Amino acid sequence: MTVLVFLDPAHPAGRLADAGSPTILATDQGVTRGDGIFESLLAVNGVPRKIQAHLDRLSVSARTMGLAIPAAEVWHAAITTALTAYAAAPPRDSGPAGSGFAGTSASTGSTDPAADSQAVVKLIATRGPEGANTPTAWVQVSPVSPALAKQRASGLAVMLLERGYDSDLAARAPWLLMGAKTLSYAVNMAALRHAHEHGADDVIFTSGDELVLEGPTSSVLLAHISDDSGAPVKRLITPHLDTGILPGTTQGALFAAAKAAGWELGYGPVTPDDLLDADAVWLISSLRLLAPVNTIDGQEIGTAEIRAELTSELAALLAQTQ
Ligand code: PLP
Repeated sequence: MTVLVFLDPAHPAGRLADAGSPTILATDQGVTRGDGIFESLLAVNGVPRKIQAHLDRLSVSARTMGLAIPAAEVWHAAITTALTAYAAAPPRDSGPAGSGFAGTSASTGSTDPAADSQAVVKLIATRGPEGANTPTAWVQVSPVSPALAKQRASGLAVMLLERGYDSDLAARAPWLLMGAKTLSYAVNMAALRHAHEHGADDVIFTSGDELVLEGPTSSVLLAHISDDSGAPVKRLITPHLDTGILPGTTQGALFAAAKAAGWELGYGPVTPDDLLDADAVWLISSLRLLAPVNTIDGQEIGTAEIRAELTSELAALLAQTQ
């Protein structure tokens, strides 16, 4: 079940559209060139999480692309309309009637009992139809994939794959739009298919100068619970943001919560060996939240016990964030 709400000046609260009928012109440059931007966020019980951070990043992506998009309050109104329609929609399967949020676990086949109170909210803006100079913008609300809930619970086998550029390229080549969340995700999806064909669940990209970057749809995080001398520490590290990666809203929120809880925080450079030496590594994002990495290229990261312990500690911190 998917709800679509277009941002339309004639409809201040947004215009509901039938997701099963054609709604975008075939000449829209989002379709013909992948020329647009998006955000994916989680709504829990009808409330979007980290909404300001997502709207801020959407606005940075729009500026980077030279794309004029609707103001934040117009997005807020459309998101409210979409989440209200989703909550009122018939259940996806045989769950209790009357709420898109209120199905039983059986309705999504999810292993996560909380999954049915969650929904995926996508904010999308394209450069619009060729020649029209009017962006197309809409909000989409749909169920969370059961695969994401499984990743949170069971963890991931990850493969390192080259992205093919050096970690200092972003500053030299702004036209590559690195660090913007553009619709051009075909390469990211191809990397995931490559991993699946080779028995892995997900990917961590590395740069030409052999630094760790990010996943195709996630940020990378590693933890140490002892230093080189064996003394206990609590240290979280993520790759430096000027390596052309997307600044993760989940990583940002988790760092703020972890700092308050006494963790030391650091930004890369991170090498593949740093990942293998870590006590735990995660792929984190708004939808999958915190997915522990069990193995990288077949090598186990830390131990199952430490991974589980740290994952539950950090997941509790992340759950406190808005
Ligand atoms: N990096 C990439 C390439 C992504 O696509 C995403 C999320 O989709 C992230 C990082 C994590 O971002 P966030 O935590 O804001 O979801």
